[in-house]
Amino acid sequence: MTPAALRPLAERLAAMAWPRRCPLCGALLGPDAVQGLLCPACAPWAHKLAHIPPRLTAAAHELYALTGAAAAFYYGGPVRQAILACKAHGRPWYAQELADLVAVRVFGAAPPPAPGRRPAFWNPTGIPLYDLIVPVPPRRGRGGSRLPQQLAGRLGRVLGVPVQRPLTVTRRMRPQKSLDRAARLQNTRGAYACRPGADLSGLRVLLVDDVITTGATASACALALLQAGAESVFAVSVAASEEEDLS
Ligand SMILES: [Zn+2]
Repeated sequence: MTPAALRPLAERLAAMAWPRRCPLCGALLGPDAVQGLLCPACAPWAHKLAHIPPRLTAAAHELYALTGAAAAFYYGGPVRQAILACKAHGRPWYAQELADLVAVRVFGAAPPPAPGRRPAFWNPTGIPLYDLIVPVPPRRGRGGSRLPQQLAGRLGRVLGVPVQRPLTVTRRMRPQKSLDRAARLQNTRGAYACRPGADLSGLRVLLVDDVITTGATASACALALLQAGAESVFAVSVAASEEEDLS
């Protein structure tokens, strides 16, 4: 067997050794887990906060340099708490379930049959949707989060798309949450670049972040990817915060 073929087995053994937890509340997931990913108590929240349709509109978000963007949830309630917990404590066991929820809700993957199993993504055309998955890189200094990298790694395994990290941060940025829309665009413009020699010629890239608010970060990253030759960039996140929720 190839190493790739052994990976699902390794994931099942890991799930036995480290039981999976509900990404929204941290409770251990048992046989009653909803879609194998959420505890029954959190399922109504996931339903309430679902971003339907997942596609983000250009009216509510700044999507320059992107062909589009999508999110699994609105940024609120336990979804917001889960993302903050991942960022503050680096809880990688939450990232797996959050990425799986994105695969199910945004890309239509079949939910896993039990906690710790992988969602089944089946592409009937056999033509890959994307050539490459790229995470938004952590901000410099304190508060830089590796959650996008963790999400991208898992999403790559579920969707069967390779993951690379060509993006770097070129300068310090102020925390986006303290800024309004115009200042966010100013803060991020030109703040990302691809590593020297990165060649993304002709590649359709899926950019992964944990939260999309104005879209300024995703758009600035997309611009850097296009400058390295990417054919197109679509952004996906666990959660989206619309303009009116910015406070
Ligand atoms: Zn829960």
